Amino acid sequence: MNSSSFQRFLARPVIAYGLLICLLIAMGTWLAYDFSRERERSVAETSRMALHKSQLLSSLFGDTFISADYILRDVADHIESALARKLPLADLTPLLARKLATVPALTQLAILDDKCVFTAMGKSVTLRFNKSNQRFCSTRNNEPGQSLHIQYMPAEKSASGNAVVVLSRVIYSKQGEVQAAVMAVISLDYAQRWIETFSISTYDILTILDQDGILIARNPPLLKYLGNRAPPPPGKTSFDHIRGTMTFITQSPMDGRERIFGLSRLEKFPFITIVGYDKEAALKSWQQRAWQFSCGYLALVFLSIAFLHAHLHTIAQSQTLNILATTDELTGIANRRYLLKSGEQEIVRAMRYEKPLSVLMIDIDLFKAINDSWGHHTGDRVIRNVADQMRAILRSVDICGRLGGEEFTAILPETDAQGAFALAERLRLAVANSEDARADDGQVIRHSISVGIATLSPDDSRFETLLKRSDLALYQAKENGRNRVQTAS
Ligand code: GH3
Ligand code: MG
Ligand code: MG
Repeated sequence: MNSSSFQRFLARPVIAYGLLICLLIAMGTWLAYDFSRERERSVAETSRMALHKSQLLSSLFGDTFISADYILRDVADHIESALARKLPLADLTPLLARKLATVPALTQLAILDDKCVFTAMGKSVTLRFNKSNQRFCSTRNNEPGQSLHIQYMPAEKSASGNAVVVLSRVIYSKQGEVQAAVMAVISLDYAQRWIETFSISTYDILTILDQDGILIARNPPLLKYLGNRAPPPPGKTSFDHIRGTMTFITQSPMDGRERIFGLSRLEKFPFITIVGYDKEAALKSWQQRAWQFSCGYLALVFLSIAFLHAHLHTIAQSQTLNILATTDELTGIANRRYLLKSGEQEIVRAMRYEKPLSVLMIDIDLFKAINDSWGHHTGDRVIRNVADQMRAILRSVDICGRLGGEEFTAILPETDAQGAFALAERLRLAVANSEDARADDGQVIRHSISVGIATLSPDDSRFETLLKRSDLALYQAKENGRNRVQTAS
């Protein structure tokens, strides 16, 4: 396929629209794939951010407990020496008061005796129970010495009547019985106030849970849910089996919004921090870009189709104009202008490649009489019939056309005088035997043609001279009685 036939192939509307639509579909698919990948990347990035922030939160929150434990160790050492010297534990009250002031998160520091009864308090308050409800008070420990206990106390179980987290250092005897304990009370109000100091975007959330999933603090605040059990992450039955960190996406049952969560368990303390980023907000910039690209893509689809439509219309118009400019209106074969132009080109080609070239000059015999007897209209049918016979007999490489009136020309490339004579003879016979041209009443109009043949010789430098010689041969054919073929001398 050469370049011009390839261009013609592309100019066919089915092909052109098909190719454009395939191209647009391929582009659209690629864009959609790329955007789905980008969306996944945005979600993964937000998950990472949520995880990092939850780790930061857990390490900061852990600092409070580390400071509290530091104080507990110090007091526990004092208790041990007081026990050794058999001094009353109540004497440690001023020490508790001093220590209490050093960590803002602490709301109380208290010492319990071996019966778990409050014996000394850093801040004097009226308690609801004089005996503690801590788990270690009702269970034995196998190990002697100090051990740390952390327990969330809901308001109804806590001695102060407020929901608190209690860190206790218990001193066990050699038999594993509680000898004394010091407890640091961290009010949940503190955790709540602390978490509210972090500024967050609308719909994002920060929460602190205890190891059982009890909500201890939340930003934005949701005070009536504090102390309630939070639902575990999707696919988990509880918070028990979650070690270290994890990320997950889930829809809130409260506001119906989907969030991307990062979760971290505190390293040494039984708490979990969770950071949730609103998924819609996280995907907002992605969504904006997806919209922009979709609009751009739709504009491209619209413009490219409109452009192609206009382009094909122009091509079709120029093709029509070209046909009109080169075709004879009455017969549909080439017109005079096209014949003369093609003749010049064929002569140049034949000379360059030293190939023979012949020309037939064809004239309908006694056509004037046909016109006169049957009318101009029937004459036109005879002219059309001769053109039809030429089309049928001549080869596809031959160029046949109407010079004007009832005169026709055929240019026969690569055809010598002998071959041209044979073709002309066949054409003459076909016309003479044709019954296709009929008058209005259906009567067959018998008609014949005379043909003059000229074959290219070195003297014919132009098509016009060749044509003139074929015309002379035609004249001779007429002279010799018509309905015959005459080769130019
Ligand atoms: P000859 O055998 O010597 O060629 O005789 P002829 O009658 O064909 O002679 P001539 O060439 O003088 O006649 C041509 C006639 O063709 C004259 C003209 O009226 C007629 N003619 C020219 N163009 C058309 C056309 O488009 N349609 C019709 N019906 N007749 C045409
Ligand atoms: Mg004639
Ligand atoms: Mg004539």
